[in-house]
Amino acid sequence: MAEKQSKEENKKVDNEKAVEDETGGEAGTENVELPELGPFETITGQRMPPAFFKFQFKNVEYSSGRHKTFLCYSVEKEGTDCERSEGYVEDEHSGTHAENAFFTDVFWECDGSLSYSIIWYVSSSPCAACASKIAEYLSKCPNIQLTIFIARLFMWEEAEVQQGLRQMQSAGCRLRIMKAPEYNYCWNTYVDNEGEAFAPWEDLQDSSTLYEEKLNEILHHA
Ligand SMILES: [Zn+2]
Repeated sequence: MAEKQSKEENKKVDNEKAVEDETGGEAGTENVELPELGPFETITGQRMPPAFFKFQFKNVEYSSGRHKTFLCYSVEKEGTDCERSEGYVEDEHSGTHAENAFFTDVFWECDGSLSYSIIWYVSSSPCAACASKIAEYLSKCPNIQLTIFIARLFMWEEAEVQQGLRQMQSAGCRLRIMKAPEYNYCWNTYVDNEGEAFAPWEDLQDSSTLYEEKLNEILHHA
């Protein structure tokens, strides 16, 4: 029931964005401070509505209707001062992917004299193209430690996708599956939960275990 509700919410948002695009086509070219959001542009924020989280991060095997990736991040900068920033990025699969948007919209400056600890919580694992870009980025920036917690594995049967995940691992990326503690953490950190506690769905644990086995198989495949 909650799922149906979130689907409707999503549809509503999509419609709103479509209207925005029809009416606001000329806006945004020179407005650097407040970019207009078109239908395929990236959305960034601090906290998302609970329905979005419950729907997008639900670790079901078949993710029909979820044509986007949500990426929650925490960036810790270690150097003279220790700074931390948190938020989320949301994409549409037909536009710039969230993983890429993170490096262009959120974390665009990497100071070589500092070290960074970055954690992502993603609704689905990266596609082959993003995986390859992430691996390349990490190889160039050894001062970044990236850990990714994944809710669902995206198209994990595909050889290219599997190879992408292994490539990321070889570049130093830690890949993990989200479990109850990560769901709780995300709920309390990135969701506008209005004081409500996270209510796990019935098969959260079983699905996590299943995805974890799958991921281990993929990563240890020679
Ligand atoms: Zn991608």
